[in-house]
Amino acid sequence: MSLPVRVRLTAWYVLLLGAILIFLGAFLTVRLRADLVQGVDQSLDSRAAQISLGFQGKGEGEFQDVSDASLAGLSQGESAAQLLSPGGAVLETSGDPAARLAMVDAVAAARARNGSSVRQTIAIGPDGEPFRVLAVPMRLPPRTDVVVVATSLENINGSVHRLLVLLLVGGPMALALAGIGGWALARKALRPVSLMTRKAAEIGSDRLQERIHVPRGSDELTRLAETLNDMLARLERGAEEHRRFIADASHELRTPLAIMASELDVDLRSPELSPESRDTLESAREEVHRMARIVEDLLTLARIDEGGLVLVRTPVELRALIGRVVDDLRPLAAAEAIRIHVHCDGEVVDADEAKLGQALANLIENGLKYAGSGGEVAIDVSEAAREVVLRVTDTGPGIPRAILPHVFDRFFRADTSRSRDRGGSGLGLAIAQAIVHAHGGRIAAESAPGRGSSFSIALPITRAAG
Ligand code: ADP
Repeated sequence: MSLPVRVRLTAWYVLLLGAILIFLGAFLTVRLRADLVQGVDQSLDSRAAQISLGFQGKGEGEFQDVSDASLAGLSQGESAAQLLSPGGAVLETSGDPAARLAMVDAVAAARARNGSSVRQTIAIGPDGEPFRVLAVPMRLPPRTDVVVVATSLENINGSVHRLLVLLLVGGPMALALAGIGGWALARKALRPVSLMTRKAAEIGSDRLQERIHVPRGSDELTRLAETLNDMLARLERGAEEHRRFIADASHELRTPLAIMASELDVDLRSPELSPESRDTLESAREEVHRMARIVEDLLTLARIDEGGLVLVRTPVELRALIGRVVDDLRPLAAAEAIRIHVHCDGEVVDADEAKLGQALANLIENGLKYAGSGGEVAIDVSEAAREVVLRVTDTGPGIPRAILPHVFDRFFRADTSRSRDRGGSGLGLAIAQAIVHAHGGRIAAESAPGRGSSFSIALPITRAAG
């Protein structure tokens, strides 16, 4: 699954920030705890020294007073002190948690008596309250006792806990805010890309002269827009060369084809022709006419591309126009025994008669080509609110739904043996469409496959009918 860049950018941003927050949170928690415990250790050091000194100065039996006075300076919370005998027994005690049980085990007491300070974190009491404990030696020659001081770590744990809660509540909130901010930022950063994509998608082969807006600055987006524009310029040049080539080639082919057609006509008039030669010449003439048609179509399209169609508009009475077009096509209809029905009430449109006639002829000719022997082609003219609609319907095989949107594309021919047999060039409907669009009208194809096709031309009414 590929997610939009905006989603991916935001997700990466949030993930990265999440990882940083977790790392920072863990570091802060560990560091804070270590610093606070270090502070406790320092104050335990000085209390233990104070007790030792005080006790040594005042002598036995004064332990409780000395240690109570000393422990009162500890601010961390509950605290206690013990004096352990060389055998590890509790000799004196001060403070609540210090029961008759030694706060350090025999091993730690022995290590302390031997001269090293022993620090431990232990749990005391039924609740297992955590305490930081320090055991140091106290020399009372000839023996060496051990002074143990302890203070609760509850306050420190409370502080660390509060920091954790803060991080757990604040972290997700910061992540959510960063996510929203990241989303908005990514959206802003990618907006020019969306605009470019939309514009590039709009530029079809007929609008290659258009360019994509180049954002200000000199960053990646500017370069992307400039590169796309360079590509459009190359496409435009290519299309122009292509158009010129088609125009030149069809122009060059026109005259020789016309000469060939007239020479074949002359040859065919000769009475001395054998039936075989006549058949061959007639077939050649048919092919030459077909080629001439294709060349004419190509030339028409090249002209349309060159500067659009120049229309010479006059009021055109549609019944007469349809009559003329149908008359020209009667031989084609007769060859296949196709009946042509015309229904027109004499509507008038403001149009270029020759060009509209050509568009109509292309539609009717297609109808005749595809209707099939004994079929029917109907031409209906109706007037709607502000337009006149000419509809050409045939009883042919219809057009498959998948190819219906492409029938107006240049050089498009459904790859069926039927349309190949009929020898079209795939330009007839493209030309009809260009003519109709030049008139400000619409052209559309509908089809019920298996039951025929229907092509309609809708032209705006600019002059009252009649
Ligand atoms: P062609 O010269 O090949 O007929 P067109 O541009 O007139 O070119 O038509 C394009 C394609 O549309 C045809 O090849 C054919 O597949 C399809 N088509 C056009 N008119 C009809 C129709 N009346 N019935 C069925 N298919 C049609």
